[in-house]
Amino acid sequence: MEKILTQKIKLNTDDVSLYIRREDLIHPFVSGNKFRKLKYNLIQAKEEGLKTLLTFGGAFSNHIAATAAAGKEHGFKTMGVIRGEELADKVHGNPTLLFARQSGMELVFVSREEYKLKSQNDLLNHLEQRFGPFYLLPEGGSNALAVKGCEEILTPEDSDFDYICVSVGTGGTISGIMNSAMPSQKILGFPALKGDFLKNEIRQFSTKENMNLITDYHFEGYGKINADLIEFINTFYKQNNIPLDPVYTGKMMYGIFDLIAKDYFPKGTKILAIHTGGIQGIEGMNQKLKSKKLPLIYWQ
Ligand SMILES: *Cc1c(COP(=O)(O)O)cnc(C)c1O
Repeated sequence: MEKILTQKIKLNTDDVSLYIRREDLIHPFVSGNKFRKLKYNLIQAKEEGLKTLLTFGGAFSNHIAATAAAGKEHGFKTMGVIRGEELADKVHGNPTLLFARQSGMELVFVSREEYKLKSQNDLLNHLEQRFGPFYLLPEGGSNALAVKGCEEILTPEDSDFDYICVSVGTGGTISGIMNSAMPSQKILGFPALKGDFLKNEIRQFSTKENMNLITDYHFEGYGKINADLIEFINTFYKQNNIPLDPVYTGKMMYGIFDLIAKDYFPKGTKILAIHTGGIQGIEGMNQKLKSKKLPLIYWQ
């Protein structure tokens, strides 16, 4: 793979320096960490002779969009099990689901109750009876092969960064980064959702202790945002010409800026933030903001 762009971010202090790794630019449709997470899973599915990828996601899921696009590119049939029966007749108004369907993904809508059982054999057996054999990707795409792919985010040239910052959803991406980081590097994870469960998830994929979860910047939960966050994302875009998504990378970057302002990092620290992508979700978020007459997120 070509070398991924790293850019310096403007700060109003010289005490520390901040860079961003543009994983969002990896692929036009399979952005950021979802590309990394799919890579070895697609190879495995081919080896197993399976022609269909099946996975799960919510209405604006980056993982659903990425799986649909990657499946199309690599000759797989794709199936997306979507949380929320009410979405079935709203696909045309939902940029993520519309993109997935136009990329050839078959969408199956299930109730929230049914969705909760997604890792249970009953539902999986039922889906297999209905649609035939498939390669199963978990919600968010995190499994051992996904972590292996995310171990390729950091390269030996990154060894002079003191801190690596990354947004956390299901924990697969940060686990890969923990595994391939140098012993001198500290990893900061910024959960995009509330809750305490992440440490255990991460423990499944990494035995290292080189990570801290910074839990103050979830903005009250997954997909929740406020005017402060939108303003931050838009100012960041104006100053750096780099779009951030409101669900993951915007919250992480907001947190990094806040920590810098609070002198969390020792003087001279070199920080690398991973831009994990998620830009496809902005359109859907802007639709919601528009209907609430709130300011929109700039990204192009
Ligand atoms: C999915 C996603 C994450 C979270 O990755 P996990 O491996 O689930 O922790 C972070 N950023 C973006 C943009 C994502 O789409």
